[in-house]
Amino acid sequence: MGIDRVQQDKTVGVWQDLPSRRVLDTDFNDGQHFLTTWWDWLQDSRRPHVLHYVALCPSAPDPQNCLHHADQRDGLHALGQELVSQWFGLLPGFHRFLLSEGRVILTLCVGDALQSLRQQAFQADDVLTCIDGDATLGAFDAQSLWHIKALARCCRRGTQLRGRATAPPHRCAEWCSHLKSCGFESIPPEPAPDAAAPDPLALIFNPPWTLKNTRQLIATEALPVQRCVVIGAGLAGASVAASLARRGWQVHVLDQAQVPATGASGLPVGLVFPHVSSDDCSLSRLSRAGVRLTLQQARQHLQEDLDWSPSGVLERQIGGTPQLPKHWPLAGKDWSMTSAEATTCSAAPDIGSGLWHNSGAWLKPAALVRAWLNLPGVTFQGQACAHHLHHDNGVWHVLDAQGALLCRAECVVFANACGARELLQTCARHLPELEETLQRLPATQGMRGLLSWAEHADSPDAVFPAFPVNGAGSLISHVPLDAGTAWFAGSSYQPAHQPERSDADNHAHNLGHLQQLAPDLAAALRPVFESETLQAWKGTRCVSTDRMPLVGPLDSGPEPSLWLCAALGSRGLSFSVLCAELLAARMGAEPLPVEANLAKVLDALRA
Ligand SMILES: Cc1cc2nc3c(=O)[nH]c(=O)nc-3n(C[C@H](O)[C@H](O)[C@H](O)COP(=O)(O)OP(=O)(O)OC[C@H]3O[C@@H](n4cnc5c(N)ncnc54)[C@H](O)[C@@H]3O)c2cc1C
Repeated sequence: MGIDRVQQDKTVGVWQDLPSRRVLDTDFNDGQHFLTTWWDWLQDSRRPHVLHYVALCPSAPDPQNCLHHADQRDGLHALGQELVSQWFGLLPGFHRFLLSEGRVILTLCVGDALQSLRQQAFQADDVLTCIDGDATLGAFDAQSLWHIKALARCCRRGTQLRGRATAPPHRCAEWCSHLKSCGFESIPPEPAPDAAAPDPLALIFNPPWTLKNTRQLIATEALPVQRCVVIGAGLAGASVAASLARRGWQVHVLDQAQVPATGASGLPVGLVFPHVSSDDCSLSRLSRAGVRLTLQQARQHLQEDLDWSPSGVLERQIGGTPQLPKHWPLAGKDWSMTSAEATTCSAAPDIGSGLWHNSGAWLKPAALVRAWLNLPGVTFQGQACAHHLHHDNGVWHVLDAQGALLCRAECVVFANACGARELLQTCARHLPELEETLQRLPATQGMRGLLSWAEHADSPDAVFPAFPVNGAGSLISHVPLDAGTAWFAGSSYQPAHQPERSDADNHAHNLGHLQQLAPDLAAALRPVFESETLQAWKGTRCVSTDRMPLVGPLDSGPEPSLWLCAALGSRGLSFSVLCAELLAARMGAEPLPVEANLAKVLDALRA
């Protein structure tokens, strides 16, 4: 059921030459309309730079049905394959897919349609719907005034609603009166005498009353696609640059160091896996959304088994590691399962006890940072330490400590971790309006960490697990480096304001953790820990008071031009793409990558 080709073509006709188009489909069904719209977008030389497609579905669609529909029409097969290759773990909630190199952005909202609509924070340009009078439980119900009201709240003046009615005439009349009362014009023509022929509908949202923006986190107007300076070339800054460049922005990334990824993102290798809690708290849900996006980017930009590996991660349950949520739906098993469940899967390795994160991976962050900075539209400038900012005629000038101009742009994103507050404080001397921002901005602190590592050639007797293990600290067993394969055990955790512990103490700390994670291996590696072949990597994480990233505008005007993406804490690999997508979505008044109530948890000025 749904939109026929005639309506699809009309959608295409109105989107030409726009920076982006935001489509809301109340029934993803098997994805046929999405795939067709995507295909039409690809064929159109005057396509919008970005196509957003937000689709509701009461439960996760079957990927085989999507592929079946894709096979019905020439050209769709490859698109169906690209889509279902990312199709895993579709628990109730929002799931973002970056397709066609991130320029077709699908946000699949699984679960109750009314709740999904209420968690949107964007205004659609087009709504696709179907009035079949026979909605299944949780699906969009055109007969329900509440559903129509919730839909209307996702519309701007001029939003076009298209679809077709297959419901009996009396149902359509009821539906039309709901639509009228909610501000839609052009009531569909009388149903055709032939009841089998569905009636195409074309309506426009144009209520006679003044529209108010009652949604938090929504910028009524998108910022123009323009120039942006990003301060900081770590995971946060490079990911923001990539997200904005995919949307057509010209992004200039500054870093005080000569090369990118010299801060915490210089970490030689780190783990990407979801947080798990028995109540599936905000952190767990956000981390799953983040891991999905990071894995997509790793697949697109990195070389598997060299820069990253979807190895899975075992989380040993040391010191009361939380349990999986009770009654975890089946799709949850794509993310995490108990080791007993995992070992019954023939594909799973013999993993010992703990939680098996099927979607876990190891990744070299600097490789991802470099890939993002190499994207078209992104320029990197090293040895450029931002010291203060000056605003002139709508343009920010970023200056160094000597007052020399580093760069200018209409927007600035602070992605310089713990340096952001300090820089904002310096800026506030010339820009007193930033004082209030600083008062509202949650505090951050540095957390030092040391990672112990060595090459396998230096530890010939040790037998390593085939996959990374996490719990008390972490172990990543097999990481290819230029000279050979290495293992990494980490990481210590110490507030940066305390006197720094010696490297020897930190190595001892890491060995202590390894004893809990893998006692036999720890015993075999003890001689290496006591030898000069042991190496260390040190860095400082930026952590906020509630340990959640800080993402969003720093000024509250209608067109905010100062933004923040920082405090990725110990989960920058899992959070950086999500935070960048959220930031770009808020700048562009686009659909959010997660539910509005989850996005609020990350708001920079939430305090
Ligand atoms: C020991 C250790 C182990 C970790 N393990 C993991 C892990 O397994 N998994 C995981 O997800 N995360 C892990 N992390 C965390 C992860 O590394 C961070 O969350 C992430 O790298 C933070 O990225 P960022 O871009 O916010 O900060 P950074 O990478 O620190 O980047 C900030 C950048 O801003 C620049 N800068 C600062 N001030 C200025 C200025 N005024 N002008 C210009 N440039 C400036 C800096 O030079 C720096 O390059 C670990 C961190 C540490 C320290």
